[in-house]
Amino acid sequence: MHLFDLPQPSVPVVDSSSLFPVRRIYCIGRNYGKHVEEMGYDLNRSRPFYFSKPADAIVLSKGTVNYPPQTEELHYEMELVVAIGKAGRDIAVGKSYDHVFGYAAGIDMTRRDLQHGAKKTGQPWEMAKGFDQSAPISSIHPVSEIGHPSDARIWLSVNGEIRQDANINELIWNVPQSIAELSSFVQLRPGDLIYTGTPSGVGKVDKGDKLTGGIDGIGTIEVTIK
Ligand code: MN
Repeated sequence: MHLFDLPQPSVPVVDSSSLFPVRRIYCIGRNYGKHVEEMGYDLNRSRPFYFSKPADAIVLSKGTVNYPPQTEELHYEMELVVAIGKAGRDIAVGKSYDHVFGYAAGIDMTRRDLQHGAKKTGQPWEMAKGFDQSAPISSIHPVSEIGHPSDARIWLSVNGEIRQDANINELIWNVPQSIAELSSFVQLRPGDLIYTGTPSGVGKVDKGDKLTGGIDGIGTIEVTIK
């Protein structure tokens, strides 16, 4: 008997009444060359690395994100999200797609000032990345309907003005490679989401801003900063 009930964070599935229950949210850093450069890093030095957000940080499309405390530099990062449907560890690149349930468009909201501070002092990124409402996400489009898109426009606009505009074919570590690599560190399980990293053009948002983003053929996400 639990002391109290906890809600199960979950994401709608396109053309279905089913919900995808969220277990863990993994995020990949520095996965598009131009974004690596805009953040001031050397491309050659890049290897995938990971951080996490809590499952209940998700915000569904048409929702609101309350401007978080302890920051004056809240940034958006538009990302392709992989929804895992089958458990595995040490997954081979060639078998990675077998573990994908579907794909979504997500935004990795970031307290950039805290992240810069953490980088300087060598402290964890947790409060820069894993805060409340930091993981907006569109409905999940199942592989059974769209296959495994590897060439699609990814974009984000703030109040109707395009700020990020790229293609998921520019991912440094593509989806199969990311799954294989991540599963060498942890066992992936159904319900896991992987935010695969953002293209260039990241920037600040203010209260009242409306963020709209999407990945062609996968989904769109729309949130308002409150
Ligand atoms: Mn990111």
